[in-house]
Amino acid sequence: MPAASLQQITLLGATGSIGASTLNVISRHPERYSVFALTAHRAAKRLAELCLRFSPLFAVMADKNAARELQAMLHAARCPTTVLEGGRALCEVAQAPEADVVMAAIVGAAGLEPTLSAVRAGKKVLLANKEALVMSGQLFMDAAEASGCRLLPVDSEHNAVFQSLPESFRRNPCAHGVRRILLTASGGPFRSTPLERLETVTPEEACAHPVWSMGRKISVDSATMMNKGLEVIEAHWLFGVPPAQIEVLIHPQGIVHSMVDYADGSVLAQLGNPDMRIPIANALAWPERVDSGAPALDFFGMADLKFESPDFSRFPCLALAYRALEAGGAMPAALNAANEEAVAAFLEGRLGFCRIANVISTVLEQGGWAGAETLEAVMEADVRARTLARAEIQKRGCA
Ligand code: NAD
Ligand code: MG
Repeated sequence: MPAASLQQITLLGATGSIGASTLNVISRHPERYSVFALTAHRAAKRLAELCLRFSPLFAVMADKNAARELQAMLHAARCPTTVLEGGRALCEVAQAPEADVVMAAIVGAAGLEPTLSAVRAGKKVLLANKEALVMSGQLFMDAAEASGCRLLPVDSEHNAVFQSLPESFRRNPCAHGVRRILLTASGGPFRSTPLERLETVTPEEACAHPVWSMGRKISVDSATMMNKGLEVIEAHWLFGVPPAQIEVLIHPQGIVHSMVDYADGSVLAQLGNPDMRIPIANALAWPERVDSGAPALDFFGMADLKFESPDFSRFPCLALAYRALEAGGAMPAALNAANEEAVAAFLEGRLGFCRIANVISTVLEQGGWAGAETLEAVMEADVRARTLARAEIQKRGCA
């Protein structure tokens, strides 16, 4: 095989869970990948360690004080990496001409602008930051189409669907006999917890995911199943399938990562261990295949594969996400913003677990979530939804 050319990577969100898995895959293939820029929010010490190990040209801290801290640590260690700070610098390293690939792995709305910058610059964009696409749906996909950016899903379910859909089908799958997209969900830590116990579950219990090890925000989203709701919206935009043809299946073992059901009765699935290095390696090397570091799937040691339909009364956030997708406009952005505020309040002990869905529902009911045609309109909806959510959280508190 001819040697692949060295690709320069900007990793947005390098200190997170996806960031760590990405660097793990990259470090297995030094002949293919080199790190151009690493970014983080406030974790200066961790980013300094990563700079010493991966020698990026640039390191960006979103927070000013943390940038100063990082600068001092790198200076003391004689590390030549240039330190930048703030939101504009995040966008600059995402769109820099030297960067071939951008891994979008910042959590939440904070990732929208840098991810969109990479999309607009026509990069190969590896999308983990689902909130960015949920917020700006049409705008995001139009920007990708206009720039010719190669958008590769990293979310394990969407990567599985991507692998199960021939490339020529992706623009209009329903015209090519795709009947349903079947998104699998583990059901999270509270799949069978007695409903009355849910009132008092703690952040630690919510973050103790039975199958995946992830950042705290997405762990809580998995516990409420808002994560799957966001993924339904993500699948709609990535694959152009109407909401009624996207179904969620609870599959506690986390082996079947998602499926495509075709009109002739064929169902194509992607299977693998629950290890994010698999979709990350798939997206990084696409259309080739490289070692991800994940062990081979052991079919004989595997538990039975089970599938159940989700209980919408146990997981009201899933229904709220379908509702926001059907309504369109800026409602998905409002859903995302209200959810981010409610999850942060839950993690800080200011809101009970069962109140998360109430806060989001109240925010959506305020109405006025019409336009999302421009980035300004999306950000306006984000700010308004956060203001409404904070007022609601204060009212409801931990009760
Ligand atoms: P994480 O909390 O572990 O890491 C988040 C990263 O974003 C960190 O590097 C952090 O410094 C950075 N960040 C946070 N706030 C920021 C801000 N305001 N400005 C700039 N940077 C900021 O999260 P994660 O689990 O790695 O998830 C990252 C994204 O990937 C999320 O959108 C999540 O939904 C998605 N995702 C994660 C997994 C997983 O297994 N962890 C799977 C699928 C999708
Ligand atoms: Mg997922």
